[in-house]
Amino acid sequence: MRRIEALTETQIDRYSRQILLAQVGGTGMKKLLGARVTIVGAGGLGCPAAQVLASAGVGTIRIIDGDRVELSNLPRQFLHHTKDVGRFKVDSIKEKIEAMNPDVTVEEVRMFANQANIDDLLAGSDYVIEACDGQAAKFLVNDACIHLGISFTIAGVVQFYGQILSVVPGRTRCLRCLFREPAPEDPQNSCSGAGVMGAAPGMAGMIQANEAIKSIIGAGALQTDKLLIFNLIDCSFDFLDIAALPKCAACAQPQEPFYKTFDYGACVTVCHLGPHKL
Ligand SMILES: [Zn+2]
Repeated sequence: MRRIEALTETQIDRYSRQILLAQVGGTGMKKLLGARVTIVGAGGLGCPAAQVLASAGVGTIRIIDGDRVELSNLPRQFLHHTKDVGRFKVDSIKEKIEAMNPDVTVEEVRMFANQANIDDLLAGSDYVIEACDGQAAKFLVNDACIHLGISFTIAGVVQFYGQILSVVPGRTRCLRCLFREPAPEDPQNSCSGAGVMGAAPGMAGMIQANEAIKSIIGAGALQTDKLLIFNLIDCSFDFLDIAALPKCAACAQPQEPFYKTFDYGACVTVCHLGPHKL
């Protein structure tokens, strides 16, 4: 984390409502301005996450995605506008965020994360937000972050539903403790097959960003060891306790980068792990 010596008068004015919070104050605000958060995925989760982080003054946001904006993305990927169709998503987000807050530097990465490049893409991050749309990518981010010792939040959404889990490597349970390994992708259970309402990824992405902010300033309780499940069609919120898994492939031997050779299964083509190389 970059050390910020002092806030400028403009920053004290801009962030005054945050600085008023007992959990933030001037010290927390300097931590936010000095932090780097990496978002893997620039879509329905990544857009609101980037928006919250940038507005709050998180100083460096690295955003990773090799996709281009499509017309059908626009109802839920809030930072992409009609004129952006066909552009790289990361370029679209960088333009909006730099207009939103000059305190924020965006490190845009126009490629998909994969087993070969994930270490380099996450290096130097104070926190990682997993914002992909495929199971294998979620497991890859989970496995790499635990090996690298970087705290992170994973989320998934479909239709009006969402699930969110934060992980602190070495201290809390992870995605593998819960699901063991990625299941084959089911097109009928994906956003492209089953549909999605924009508020679901919107809310999940904002909660992910808030988890990153809490981790950076060291305040509150993270959404760890239990899965938050929400259903916006009836506004219900539930929590699923995650049992300990002593032989979890990721947690049991975090020093082993097993994800370099792990077979993430048939779903690799869905989340672009396979064909895209550095
Ligand atoms: Zn685990």
